[in-house]
Amino acid sequence: MKILVINCGSSSLKYQLIDMENESVLAKGLCERIGIEGSKLTHKPTGKENYAIETPMGDHKVAVQLVLDALMDKEHGVIESTEEITAIGHRVLHAGTVYSDATLINEDVKKVIRDCFDLGPLHNPANLIGIEACEAAMPGKPNVAVFDTAFGMKIPEKAAMYAIPYEYYEKYSIRRYGFHGTSHMFVSGETLKKIGKDAAKVIVCHLGNGASISASIGGKCVDTSMGLTPLEGLIMGTRSGDLDPAVLQFICNHENIDVNEMLNILNKKSGVLGMSGVSSDFRDVREAADAGNERAIMALDAYRYRVAKYIGSYTAAMNGVDAITFTAGVGENDTQMREEICEYLGYLGVKIDSEKNAQARGKEEEISTPDSKVKVYVIPTNEELAIARETKALV
Ligand code: AMP
Repeated sequence: MKILVINCGSSSLKYQLIDMENESVLAKGLCERIGIEGSKLTHKPTGKENYAIETPMGDHKVAVQLVLDALMDKEHGVIESTEEITAIGHRVLHAGTVYSDATLINEDVKKVIRDCFDLGPLHNPANLIGIEACEAAMPGKPNVAVFDTAFGMKIPEKAAMYAIPYEYYEKYSIRRYGFHGTSHMFVSGETLKKIGKDAAKVIVCHLGNGASISASIGGKCVDTSMGLTPLEGLIMGTRSGDLDPAVLQFICNHENIDVNEMLNILNKKSGVLGMSGVSSDFRDVREAADAGNERAIMALDAYRYRVAKYIGSYTAAMNGVDAITFTAGVGENDTQMREEICEYLGYLGVKIDSEKNAQARGKEEEISTPDSKVKVYVIPTNEELAIARETKALV
């Protein structure tokens, strides 16, 4: 069984074709600058030469057709016809309160995705365009929506509800949803397999450009750091994370800007970028900090402090923790950041093997010492495989 995984952004489309017999990637690639000048497709077939073409892509429909052409190309292709594709799995950002599991797409599901445009204004419209483009290019093939909010949707009410008038939940479904759900589900699931204990208490730190943290017991999410939108929680590359809402009012009044502009600042110009003034890329910020840049030092200090604070609060929420797992760009590669975060966790009996930690870059590894009271792992996230598994299960 071959599953095509599609992840549409507003001007991009990432794809992977996965052979589910052995979960191997047959080909993957990316369409960039869809709908704007300079559109480009980069196609990477396993075991064959990569290729890239620059050709106009007016919309996602054109992009989907180009992806299918690349997959079936005589020289660079990996399949002969779309008949070989059993189903298509789509990453979809937001399903509001309606779906907490992956779902076979029909008109009702598309309506829910459309109804949630204002909860995910950048992603949901693009996700729907991608779905409709696949329906048009491969009529009759099953399409499955795997929602980024699904894992976090299962948190208990006490963790989900904001302490604001209840009518806003009733009227607009304002609650905490959590994001990066596919990653948290995959990585917590892989962590459980390693521990071999069904009801294990696991904290997953997804530290990438976007960053979030989840607590789960036996694979069921009990709390997660992102909220109604991905803005809540940890300090991120460009997002502020947790903040006193009165800060918005103060800055809006003093800078004479409206709340939309303020949210743009909190989403795109804050986080380690805003604090350091250097970059949103942790490698640049680290380099600046090593060279003595005080704001870069402060940004990294605040970043790891926030992660450690969340780990402490989730340990309290679960009354213990069996394993802490790091994933995503920073979590998988930044050995120093992992070590510095774990330095806060001595009170939990966390002990890191520095040598193992230094070697664990972008690969699966247990980095805690044998006598550590809590297991600490690095597990690369694989959202595409998680989406493909969910799609296979449904079709
Ligand atoms: P992601 O969003 O998961 O792709 O993660 C992207 C982030 O990972 C980038 O902003 C980088 O700062 C960070 N990153 C990637 N590789 C490294 C590395 N070797 N050391 C530190 N940070 C890294």
